[in-house]
Amino acid sequence: MSDRIRNYLAAHRFDEPVMVLDLNRVRDNYLAFAKALPDTRVFYAVKANPAPEVLSLLADLGSCFDIASVQELQMALAAGATPDRISFGNTIKKEADVARAYGLGIRLFAVDCVAEVEKIARAAPGSKVFCRVLCDGAGAEWPLSRKFGCEPQMAVDVLEHAHRLGLIAHGVSFHVGSQQRNPNMWNEALAMASKVFRDCADRGITLAMVNLGGGFPTKYLKAVPKVQAYGNAIFEALRRHFGNRIPETIIEPGRGMVGNAGIIQAEVVLVSKKREDDDVRWVYLDIGKFGGLAETMDESIRYAIKTPRDGAALEPCVLAGPTCDSMDVMYEKEPYMLPISLEIGDKVLIEGTGAYTTTYAAVAFNGFPPLRQIVI
Ligand SMILES: *Cc1c(COP(=O)(O)O)cnc(C)c1O
Repeated sequence: MSDRIRNYLAAHRFDEPVMVLDLNRVRDNYLAFAKALPDTRVFYAVKANPAPEVLSLLADLGSCFDIASVQELQMALAAGATPDRISFGNTIKKEADVARAYGLGIRLFAVDCVAEVEKIARAAPGSKVFCRVLCDGAGAEWPLSRKFGCEPQMAVDVLEHAHRLGLIAHGVSFHVGSQQRNPNMWNEALAMASKVFRDCADRGITLAMVNLGGGFPTKYLKAVPKVQAYGNAIFEALRRHFGNRIPETIIEPGRGMVGNAGIIQAEVVLVSKKREDDDVRWVYLDIGKFGGLAETMDESIRYAIKTPRDGAALEPCVLAGPTCDSMDVMYEKEPYMLPISLEIGDKVLIEGTGAYTTTYAAVAFNGFPPLRQIVI
């Protein structure tokens, strides 16, 4: 854990949950991506943590940005990114928002069907489009289902349609699933991407770019491979499937860029049992699913939790949040081992919470304010 965060928390007292984010870690992560994938441009996925300090730092380091809405676009511009460094990567956009983005200078858009291509052709004429293809997300701890992307054969038709409407059929994108712990998952996706390149070439369309998506993990309880292992696996897969005609590539890390830069400090509100001789205790924190820990949904992401009593004997606990919704239980199917001596009022540290926390916090469910973030 970051000494800077430890020292900061030791010097300040908070009565509410707080996420402290160490910008030095974000810088290290950016530089690690740039080193592991030297020929690939980095488009930070703004949704993971849109704090202005994070966006400005990344803009200064030379990062590009993947945005999903006009609001995120404005945040990236405000941080100093020029429009040529921004990709509108959401495949589901209102035509009015495409037009506003075009007006702000955006010329790169994601699509995954003909109807979306038609919106772009009308509202952002002459722009570059890339088609997202389905990827099953096997092996990811936060898989992305079938909501985004189309079958590869259809991608060829979608790109051809874009070409006919005067857009630039630029390339293909995929996302191997978030928190993807297997670097080899890019191999299969790149095989599919190269097939789309060949099929488009057969129709006289030359694609130029592969968007390798996000998926790079952050360390929670289980170990994860280093960024370099992903870089190596991706480079080998590009060689294997594209030979000596390797296309332009981009990545869109979100979690891998900011996850390990943040730590949430929370407080134990209650420790109780449901009957005297129960062997599972209930531990209620002042943060839960509605306070920023939405990724505990289905117990998908298992955070590492540090307590002031670490080293003492452990006991299985159900871990829950403070709100009056019975869904606000984080770990129950697989109880969480916590010190028996844990007490009401203890401060706990939830590690690896720099991504997908602050923006997931409810505005005021039960009156609790959204998760506060302090960037240091
Ligand atoms: C959310 C998202 C990302 C970031 O994914 P991570 O798994 O956090 O790296 C990248 N690209 C797109 C299109 C996304 O929607």
